[in-house]
Amino acid sequence: MNDSTALVTGANKGIGKEIARQLADAGLTVLVGSRDPERGERAVAEIGGDARLLVLDVTDTDSIAAAAARVDRLDVLINNAGVMVDSRTPAEAEVASFRRTYETNVFGVLAVTNAFLPALRRSAHPRVVNVSSGTGSLTWSAGEQFPHVGSGAAYRSSKTALNALTLYYAHALADEGFKINALAPGLRRTDLNERAAAADGDPAEAAAGAVRLALLADDGPTGEFVSWDGSPAPW
Ligand code: NAP
Repeated sequence: MNDSTALVTGANKGIGKEIARQLADAGLTVLVGSRDPERGERAVAEIGGDARLLVLDVTDTDSIAAAAARVDRLDVLINNAGVMVDSRTPAEAEVASFRRTYETNVFGVLAVTNAFLPALRRSAHPRVVNVSSGTGSLTWSAGEQFPHVGSGAAYRSSKTALNALTLYYAHALADEGFKINALAPGLRRTDLNERAAAADGDPAEAAAGAVRLALLADDGPTGEFVSWDGSPAPW
């Protein structure tokens, strides 16, 4: 369909693999980010189309530099890789679990995005989608949406920080034609945590929301937080 190239981090399973599959179905060349080459190769075979493995650990500076050196031009970056280390409240949490969570969910996004900025700047229509979470919404957390408020503090606050980063990146790069948005995928059946593993939500439905943001037209929004179905999510 086109000669666009997309990179999806953490694309060897879960929502990321579905995003990669749908982008490949749309005719893009898809770099399937995976920190483990074997898991990545298996996913590439399942995804089909023009999917290619890109070994990438978003917490490893050398891995990020090596991956970025292999990509000349990038049209779409999906920062999808994420972890939930535990579901403790801040009162129960250890600093170490916050650090581990932020390494992937926040610092990893910063490091990967900046490493691939030169390649994104070579695109005529650069798009970045940060896979966030509705649980990172302070508005929802302060209201009735999350009765378990306080739990999962490391994960949820990491997504709040990711939302902030999304807005700041959007402002910083708006003049260069970037569209940079955050996605609230909804609860999906994946390996992320026990709640996700027991969920009914189809990861493909969330992936469609990410793909919509990845393929935004030039007059599309930037600096927004959007639910999987396209409706606005509150910061
Ligand atoms: P998942 O099935 O556990 O997938 C997570 C992916 O991230 C895996 O491919 C994993 O690779 C990868 N990853 C983790 N650490 C990485 C690292 N350091 N470098 C590179 N890749 C790494 O979970 P998921 O639900 O699909 O999560 C995808 C995104 O959706 C995450 O950002 C998550 O926070 C977000 N999200 C999910 C839900 C939900 O209900 N599932 C809801 C809201 C938001 P390995 O296989 O190597 O571990």
